[in-house]
Amino acid sequence: MLMKRPIVVIGSSNTDMIVQAAHIPRPGEFSTAAGGKGANQAVGAARAGGSAVFLARVGADMFGERALEGLRKDGIDVSRVILDSEAPSGVALIIVDERGENSIAVAPGANGRLSSDDVRAVSDLISGAALVLMQLEIPLETVRTAARIAHDARVRVILNPAPAQALPAELLRLVDVITPNRIELAQLDGELLRLIDIITPNETEAELLTGVAVSEAGQAHGAALKLHQSGIATVLITLGARGVYVSSPEFTGVVAGFPVEAVDTTAAGDVFNGVLAVGLAEGKGLEESARLACAAAALSVTKRGAQPSAPIRSEIDRLKNR
Ligand code: ADP
Repeated sequence: MLMKRPIVVIGSSNTDMIVQAAHIPRPGEFSTAAGGKGANQAVGAARAGGSAVFLARVGADMFGERALEGLRKDGIDVSRVILDSEAPSGVALIIVDERGENSIAVAPGANGRLSSDDVRAVSDLISGAALVLMQLEIPLETVRTAARIAHDARVRVILNPAPAQALPAELLRLVDVITPNRIELAQLDGELLRLIDIITPNETEAELLTGVAVSEAGQAHGAALKLHQSGIATVLITLGARGVYVSSPEFTGVVAGFPVEAVDTTAAGDVFNGVLAVGLAEGKGLEESARLACAAAALSVTKRGAQPSAPIRSEIDRLKNR
């Protein structure tokens, strides 16, 4: 029997350490949870029924071991994750105030050492994937190398350009090419952009990438056009509770968000990306995959935490078909 081709998620794993902090935290107000955009997206995909393989580096320490244990429980193949004996596992320090606003400082640790050689060593896996899903909590050069391997094998690449600060500084040079030095960088990033099939920024990331302010769907159109001009055929700009603006040769329009009682929006975008990949890997169209992803992301905001909040497929289908 032909094995189902996996969704290969290449990215970060972190342990989130969360403090409620308008005053000295009382017992019960400190918690840890598995996080990291790469790991969150792998969990989002696996709970939605995707066959997910995770490529990452974690430290050979307690945090790394626990993170992998959690991913294994979700049925994610972590056999290619590298245990790094020279760097600690990634940690995110998250401070949440009474209104639920948060501030995050990330110590990337081993995530920052996932290298081009690491992904070249598993190029067969990447070439045989249904899709490759990446974010920007690992070195940009590694993202580029993986994108090239996938592109050469005609495997679709989804880039979730998050967190917002990593790519933009270089990408903005694309918009405003002035010095020869800048042209070189623009060419490099132009190359990366041409290797990506689908890009999924949120409003902030879309603005940083394109210079176009995105606060309503009409403006999302302008930002999407700029991303198309840089060579990406399919652009999905997530619009928080309003859903997602999709711009592609196949479908263009807003896929509406599902109204829910929001408790914690942490990892909404991660769940969205993981589940989008599942829909596409199942051969669903872009509009239907985006609806599936919106339903899953809406459910995730009704629960606290990153990985704990990712819903399972039956819950997603129930909301989607309501
Ligand atoms: P990020 O979490 O990366 O900042 P968004 O805020 O755009 O990204 O959220 C990603 C997706 O999660 C949205 O496209 C939407 O489908 C869903 N979502 C986010 N917030 C809500 C909400 N309050 N209610 C319903 N769905 C939401």
